Amino acid sequence: MFNIYCPYCEEHREEEEFHPKGQAHIQRPTDPDACSDKAWGDYLFFRDNPRGIHHELWVHAVGCRKFFNITRHTVSYAILETYKMGEQPTITAESLASEEKQGDVQVADGGLQTVGASDNSVSESKGAKV
Ligand SMILES: [Zn+2]
Repeated sequence: MFNIYCPYCEEHREEEEFHPKGQAHIQRPTDPDACSDKAWGDYLFFRDNPRGIHHELWVHAVGCRKFFNITRHTVSYAILETYKMGEQPTITAESLASEEKQGDVQVADGGLQTVGASDNSVSESKGAKV
């Protein structure tokens, strides 16, 4: 069990009080009658599924019952910040990438991770068997 900070209650509450509601910051087309079927379908059905920073809509269902946003890392599951509706996140994939270049923060960026031996040791072990 862990606690999630509700920006409206202004305190940490148990995770069971909250429910995720999907991707945050989805813009409704300004003129639905004028947009194409593809644009409307994208708005209704297609969501981002990034490996890394994701902004999500959550509701404090067994508390204040208000919706708010969470910036969460989809690899580590770490909740980096919570903020009220209508506000913009202070932590984005772009801001973390620029910090990573400066060497402050290490972030998984969706690249392949090598597990175990490097290519050099593999070729060495093959050489030892011959
Ligand atoms: Zn709340």
